[in-house]
Amino acid sequence: MLNIVLFGPPGAGKGTQSEKLIAKYELEHISTGDLFRKHLGEGTDLGKLARKYMDEGRLVPDEVVIGMVDDKIKTTKGAKGFILDGFPRTVAQAEALDKLLEEKDMRISGMIALEVPEEELKERIRHRGKTSGRVDDQDEEKINTRIKVYKEETLPVASYYEKQGKLSTVHGVGGIDEIFGKISAVIDQY
Ligand code: AMP
Repeated sequence: MLNIVLFGPPGAGKGTQSEKLIAKYELEHISTGDLFRKHLGEGTDLGKLARKYMDEGRLVPDEVVIGMVDDKIKTTKGAKGFILDGFPRTVAQAEALDKLLEEKDMRISGMIALEVPEEELKERIRHRGKTSGRVDDQDEEKINTRIKVYKEETLPVASYYEKQGKLSTVHGVGGIDEIFGKISAVIDQY
């Protein structure tokens, strides 16, 4: 299986690139942000729990996210692979992921980290906020919290995969197709 972690700060273009990658490589898309937003829209207990964290730009507790991802990965049996988008976001999530994949005789092929300067990220999120309807895209303080949380809690996840020899970085500024080409070149080496 081709199991990819697409990594990067909020606004790096993970969602946009995931859409193109799942089409090209016929992969399942596992976006924890999208899964939470679906629960939120359906008013499930999980959605209600996640909302208070999401609206403030903070991370939903690890055990909640990990349980949700485990359920989703089970549905990918028989697929060519999956793209994890927005997960893992803490080292504890990365460790739990390795463990639950090992139990299923699966593994992560590699992590691709999109690098985008902070000012560009903020600009992209503000722009997205005009149409996304996402509360967390529309408020400067929430945008800043998400970037701070990324730096403090999520960035160490890149080192986690680097230690396993699985980290590749891609410059995430430029045309969508140009960046897609660079990501595809990495995947074709797996
Ligand atoms: P995203 O769409 O990836 O930007 O995620 C939106 C929000 O969902 C985040 O700000 C978090 O509150 C929550 N979330 C998504 N993925 C995770 C995760 N892996 N761990 C914790 N919280 C998450």
